[in-house]
Amino acid sequence: YFVTFEGGEGAGKSSILEAAASMLSDKGYDVLTTREPGGIEIAEKIRQVILDKTHTSMDARTESLLYAAARRQHLVEKILPALDKGKIVLCDRFIDSSLAYQGYARGIGVDDVYRINQFAIQDAFPDMTLFFDIKPGKGLARIEANENRERNRLDLENIQFHEQVYEAYQWLVSQSPERIRVIDADQPYEQVKADAVQELLSGLHTN
Ligand code: C5P
Repeated sequence: YFVTFEGGEGAGKSSILEAAASMLSDKGYDVLTTREPGGIEIAEKIRQVILDKTHTSMDARTESLLYAAARRQHLVEKILPALDKGKIVLCDRFIDSSLAYQGYARGIGVDDVYRINQFAIQDAFPDMTLFFDIKPGKGLARIEANENRERNRLDLENIQFHEQVYEAYQWLVSQSPERIRVIDADQPYEQVKADAVQELLSGLHTN
């Protein structure tokens, strides 16, 4: 059973992913947590090319292809073997991040980015996706308040960009209401975690 965690910055998805995984493990489920590029050497190297700040001329489509390539390798080397063993895989970001960030917010077009990702993942679509829903202003404020957090590319992207990412996720939810479950992330951490675990368990039971 393949679950992806999606959302903008400061939604808390990454720490809730780990907390949810340990709750599922306690219940006896065999769980693998991962995030792209997943510690897969080839995918890590591709990621280094994407994130290298000296690559100021990186074209948006080049970036999309690299994300899709890294995703493919991570999927083949890590996610699919775990699913074959019957594990529950919880993955921090996957295809929907590319649709929202590259497709919509960077303006390439969701259809084009969908096509290259479909090529990359074939039929390995997530069984369930949890979208951590928090307005970008609030999410970013949470990050500002947390000085320990690695800032990755936040400095390069303005609030309008994050508003677009948010809009894109709303649209994706409307397109795939069965797959994508909305978690209200604008609540205290414990409540967000409880809601996420509840959705996960209901997905597992109906599977
Ligand atoms: O740590 P986190 O997963 O939240 O990192 C998110 C950042 O990675 C985004 O702000 C964005 O800059 C970048 N990203 C992206 N396209 C993706 C995935 C992530 O631009 N497909």
